[in-house]
Amino acid sequence: MSKVKEYSWMTKDKLMAYTFVALLILAVITIVMWWNVYAITYDANGATVQIGMSYGLTVLINCLIAVGIAVGIDALLYKVASDSPLNTLSAAVFGLIVALSYTIGEPAMRVSEVLPLLGPEAFIYVALISVVGMVVFKKVQGIKGRKYVNPAAAAKLVVLGFVGLFTILIPADHLVAGGLQVPSLAGPIGYDVIAGNGAAGFGFYLVGCFANPATPVPTTTPTQGDIFNLLFLSKFHSWAGGASSLAVIIVGIALFVLARRYIKWRITVAYFVSVAIMSVILNYAYPGGDLLLRLGFELFVGSSIFLAFFMATDPATTPLTYMGQTIFGVGLGVLTVLIQTYMGFFGGSILALVIMNFTSPFLDRVGKLKPTTEKKTPKLPKAKQFIEVKTYDCIRCGACMRVCCHKLSPIVIKEAFDKMDVEKLVKLNADYCDGCGHCSFVCPSRIDLKGSVLRAKAMIRKQ
Ligand code: SF4
Ligand code: SF4
Repeated sequence: MSKVKEYSWMTKDKLMAYTFVALLILAVITIVMWWNVYAITYDANGATVQIGMSYGLTVLINCLIAVGIAVGIDALLYKVASDSPLNTLSAAVFGLIVALSYTIGEPAMRVSEVLPLLGPEAFIYVALISVVGMVVFKKVQGIKGRKYVNPAAAAKLVVLGFVGLFTILIPADHLVAGGLQVPSLAGPIGYDVIAGNGAAGFGFYLVGCFANPATPVPTTTPTQGDIFNLLFLSKFHSWAGGASSLAVIIVGIALFVLARRYIKWRITVAYFVSVAIMSVILNYAYPGGDLLLRLGFELFVGSSIFLAFFMATDPATTPLTYMGQTIFGVGLGVLTVLIQTYMGFFGGSILALVIMNFTSPFLDRVGKLKPTTEKKTPKLPKAKQFIEVKTYDCIRCGACMRVCCHKLSPIVIKEAFDKMDVEKLVKLNADYCDGCGHCSFVCPSRIDLKGSVLRAKAMIRKQ
């Protein structure tokens, strides 16, 4: 470890702690909002009867199950496997993401479901996703040196696959059932009451789908205001974490501001811009539809808003460079809209995310700054004094690349140095390093980047 005693204030543990608190706030908001909400059915006299558990209680138990399993597996592997580090906060964040990306809420206008939408049936699937995600996609994937896919997203897709109602060819999570048909986005969409194939009744469908089930199924055409209230303020179906788009936006932006140097917010911005542009294009392609309705759905459906802020920005599985992050966000947005429009998979952002994750190793090479011998001193965050320096694995935040005064890529140089790849070190211009230490200063994982790059420079000079 470097002898440098001063570092930027951010550490991996702090980053995880802030993310955990942000997710916890969203979980509490959803639990409170949904506490007295129940799915309903009708008795022989046509009176409404509550079924299943309260939505809020279901989300609370899901959170406890997912966080408990994730933290438990992390601790267990730390005890039994010598090379498995203890990452309690990271495991807890993963658990909350699993719970909050699980769909809860059985709409009054019900269609068939892939995974159970209510407790207690939902609990086993949340547990399954947590186990698969922790063991296969966090721990085993981590052994490979870097994670390629978002663990929570990949685990959910795998479990959906095992349930058998989901295939890559027909990934519809909203199927025709009981005479009801989910309106397609591949056509003009409007607000009117469903008729015929329902193509015009998207707004009507959204009210039936996202309204509190205790409210009577609408028989009249909803207004733009009705749809806005549902999608933006309070939904009662969809990913638990996205119940209130407004809450996600406020909490998400607060987290971005707090950890701006370390969170890849450009992905979120690029995602929303591309989703909006795709919505405009589709509205133009299918004339006669309502643009605001399409925009509202694509931007604010629970899976879209929650994923954009809390999953798409996962540092480990996304590109290092600004340009790479922007392309990643655009690809994610375009794919999400296409999947939702043409495959009928309304939580399509999760599939789009896993597909885009595989492009990260290639996008890492796009937009890398050209190394220069000329020195430019970056504006660095305030230094903090640390009595003990705890190191962690690289989280791929890319901060070291942005502060190098010679525009080098310290983490990429370190990886090449660890592999003794001299040819790559030459290409990366490791010999431009002047040992300023800015890279080690900002690294939240406290990796001795300066030491590695200087050793790499010595290695090149010996050749
Ligand atoms: S120590 Fe070297 S690699 Fe690190 S920021 Fe300074 S010049 Fe760049
Ligand atoms: S080595 Fe670079 S990319 Fe990795 S955690 Fe440190 S600053 Fe972030």
